[in-house]
Amino acid sequence: MSTGGHDDGTTLRGLGVSPGIAIGRALVLEGPNIAIFRLDLSSDEAEREVLRFQRAVRRAWRQLRHLRDRVRSEAGEPFARVFEAQILILKDRALLQETTALIRRERANGEWAFHTVVGRYTQVFAQLGDQALRDRGTDIEDVAARVQALLSGSKKRHDLSELMDDVIVVGAALSPSDAAGLNREHVIGLAIDGGGPTSHTAIIASALGIPAVAGLRDASTRVRSGDLLILDGSEGVVLHNPGEEETAAWRELQARKAQRELDLMILRDQPATTREGLRVRLMANVELPEEMLAARRFGAEGVGLYRSEFLYLREAPGLPGEEEHYRTYRELAERALPDEVVIRTLDLGGEKYFSTILEHRETNPVLGLRGIRLCLKHEDLFRTQLRGVFRAAAHGKVRMLFPMVTGIDELRRARAIVEDVRQELLAQHIPCDPDVPLGVMIEVPAAALIADRLAREVDFFSIGTNDLIQYALAIDRGNESVSYLYQPLHPAILHLVRRVVEAAAHRGLRVSVCGEMASNPVTAVVLIGLGITELSMNPAAIPSVKQVIRALSLADARALVEEALRLDSAESIEELAKRKVEALVPRERSPVMEVRP
Ligand code: PEP
Ligand code: MG
Repeated sequence: MSTGGHDDGTTLRGLGVSPGIAIGRALVLEGPNIAIFRLDLSSDEAEREVLRFQRAVRRAWRQLRHLRDRVRSEAGEPFARVFEAQILILKDRALLQETTALIRRERANGEWAFHTVVGRYTQVFAQLGDQALRDRGTDIEDVAARVQALLSGSKKRHDLSELMDDVIVVGAALSPSDAAGLNREHVIGLAIDGGGPTSHTAIIASALGIPAVAGLRDASTRVRSGDLLILDGSEGVVLHNPGEEETAAWRELQARKAQRELDLMILRDQPATTREGLRVRLMANVELPEEMLAARRFGAEGVGLYRSEFLYLREAPGLPGEEEHYRTYRELAERALPDEVVIRTLDLGGEKYFSTILEHRETNPVLGLRGIRLCLKHEDLFRTQLRGVFRAAAHGKVRMLFPMVTGIDELRRARAIVEDVRQELLAQHIPCDPDVPLGVMIEVPAAALIADRLAREVDFFSIGTNDLIQYALAIDRGNESVSYLYQPLHPAILHLVRRVVEAAAHRGLRVSVCGEMASNPVTAVVLIGLGITELSMNPAAIPSVKQVIRALSLADARALVEEALRLDSAESIEELAKRKVEALVPRERSPVMEVRP
């Protein structure tokens, strides 16, 4: 967290995970703080300990079922799914059997054994470079805290449903149980030390419309209950003990933004159409089936990218079987109807390190065994996933997408396996859709440069600008020291995208963009000017992108791109595009922008 001064307080910076402004007093949560230590037992005592542990698990299970049912009736099915996922964790045989085996083998107490086993699992998640996947580890921690509390006989869990005053809740972490128990009337904001944009806390906060900032690192130790806070969930900042004048300025902005957001939601069922009537399809990027709720709420037209890595994490340290693949994709496909779902095959490796499959950490993982390379090396794993995709496709509109393709031979090898799996399913008379369209991610410069050749062998393209920028500009997308060089509007990127669009148009292929460039109105306008008509993004970004598209003239967007391509630097192109977008939709300037370095 970086801090900076303003009036007379400090500005705490984190990650905006649920938009909106909250102004109010802080309520700082206490952590569960259950000390866990090892006790040596006799073998008889160990047997009794196993029973005590199993009882605690059963009670935790009943509590979770109860919570799930309450949340389902109060907040709806999608929230209840958070607890469904936790119930599944508690049913996980490996987790329970490893714990009881450890109690017996080490003749140790249940608290210690469970803590040790859970520690191994959470370590696997913590190693994953991908924030979405790492966030799933917090579910296990939440379940573990519940079981530990039951083992220790403690009933102490924060009860946020009993609040009487409006507060901004500040905590080291907020578990899914805490988040779902929030009293929506009185919790007006969330400021959390940990977490990321795809954590369950973030999902629930944005689904409940509670502004939230995560990743604040040490807010819970700096802030005291009763302190005045201003929280901006769009900018990712929290002002601690602001002055009166500043507070008044923020209250004004809060009222203006609230009105603007309301106006934007009115666009939900309106098409994203430019002034000339060109229809742009806005889809959702999804990591978890429960994100389909946000996708619907923000008016997404299907799922343009399902990052299937999540499934592997849910099963870690094991691997998902064909049934898990099938069930997950089927659920997605059914929920997305009448729209489509693009399922991207496994894209682990690179910054998404996964110790179950990758034997060792590579020196240069971003250039190593990742995406389709990994699938070709572990063909069994790939075949299992492909069977799940083909079977699920019988229940909706499914397309399949290969990540990290760099050349024709690689693509042909992958296609040959797909064909083999298809024939196998047909021969086995297993219900499936054998005609699933097949696409490649264009996220490596080599693929962009040979897009004309790749276009002859696939049904569609999806441009992954996150990696395309990383590889084209030689900028590690996760390295803060070079992040100033991570420039989506670098002329090289515009040329690469244009080349891909032309290659696709030549063969009449659909082409979408599913990297972050799609979710920012400034870069989205440039993409449209380059000929892109399908954008896939984090669902919450859809309304503001749609608003800009509806004010945009395609001719202007094209002229903007022509001018941009004559400029030399990313900065000047960005300046030009920003001016264009601000002329279309004036941006609310929050007082905090003025104090930014
Ligand atoms: C991309 O690279 O742009 C992309 C969408 O894939 P990911 O962010 O999952 O690497
Ligand atoms: Mg990528």
